[in-house]
Amino acid sequence: MTYQRTSYAVWEITLKCNLACSHCGSRAGNARTKELSTEEALNLVQQMAEVGIKEVTLIGGEAFLRPDWLEIAKAINQAGMRCGMTTGGYGISLETARKMKAAGINTVSVSIDGLEATHDRLRGKPGSWKYAFKTMSHLREVGITFGCNTQINRLSAPEFPSIYECIRDAGAVAWQIQLTVPMGNAADNADILLQPYELLDVYPMIARVARRAYSEGVQLQPGNNIGYYGPYERLLRGRGTEEEWTFWQGCAAGLSTLGIEADGAIKACPSLPTTAYTGGNIRDHNLKDIIENAEELRFNLGAGTPEGTKHLWGFCKTCEFAELCRGGCSWTAHVFFDKRGNNPYCHHRALVHAEKGLRERVIPKVKAKGLPFDNGEFELIEEANATPFPENDPLHFTSDRIQWSGSWQEEPENAYSVVG
Ligand code: SF4
Repeated sequence: MTYQRTSYAVWEITLKCNLACSHCGSRAGNARTKELSTEEALNLVQQMAEVGIKEVTLIGGEAFLRPDWLEIAKAINQAGMRCGMTTGGYGISLETARKMKAAGINTVSVSIDGLEATHDRLRGKPGSWKYAFKTMSHLREVGITFGCNTQINRLSAPEFPSIYECIRDAGAVAWQIQLTVPMGNAADNADILLQPYELLDVYPMIARVARRAYSEGVQLQPGNNIGYYGPYERLLRGRGTEEEWTFWQGCAAGLSTLGIEADGAIKACPSLPTTAYTGGNIRDHNLKDIIENAEELRFNLGAGTPEGTKHLWGFCKTCEFAELCRGGCSWTAHVFFDKRGNNPYCHHRALVHAEKGLRERVIPKVKAKGLPFDNGEFELIEEANATPFPENDPLHFTSDRIQWSGSWQEEPENAYSVVG
């Protein structure tokens, strides 16, 4: 009996978007051809409440471009679930923020992917950075709690410490971070992706910024592809507490989370590729049936048993953390190699390779088809650290590219101790 298995749903209510991000996994822009009608959406809200969902985050595309989005938000609240939203923040006026508050949207995450020039470049829209901060000021004025979310890639990573200062000063209480992975548009822009060995320079930076964020009251929240089991695991997963039992415990897709696409496709996690991971459509089956019976939503049910590691291959299969970790974030592994179970974006893995004088690199092998939530395939290269880096790679990331501006330079590196 898996009824009430999932408690958190992320719902793409439209694929229509007013930005054109070069790292957009869903290739948002136009609405999907058969998005759910208002009646179908409200029926889905009831079904979510019935299967035990406690919290729903509305996403897009850009969720507010759907005309009935506030009606849906209100219905979610009336059904006893919490309603949040993730937005690019391009176009939320003070009036809209008031309506959001009235509809019961109680938390919002605004995407910030760099300082102004980088953010506008990545988001494909001049002025999008300024408007995102204007949106934050509107949310603040009407009393909606908000945080930010940031994709870490070769363009945004050098600006990471300064991004923190900007969003802290804007009043963000939380900051979710995620590594950009090759899905959708990002699969076509592989030069902006961090290479696995570059994580060795990324993680100490994240840790330093995180310590300061926690001490200043901003909850830095590692997304599912941040980790795993490196020296900063407890700091990041424990959100500053560094408690013993705070560490990555494996992919939770279908165990606690659910993803819904705007045309009613149901997945175990919103980020997973559509083709390989859709368990059914709400127009053909009820939600309870899909959660209980679709194999695409049950692949993590073997966690903690020998079944839980059967899908592992490559380095992850040999890893000392395999049973607990199960190959990290399924989405991340899948979009690199077109199957899950071997995750190149892992700090522990990069450290093990470095100890042996090795590094891992990925290069595009098969192009993605050009559909929402699709992926291509990459080749994994293991080479000696002494091998010269490829030429013509101007975005190559190293720690000396990090902009430790202003206040960062005035403090010692261990200025912020976080007490558990
Ligand atoms: S190498 Fe794979 S299994 Fe091991 S910690 Fe990293 S992601 Fe997890």
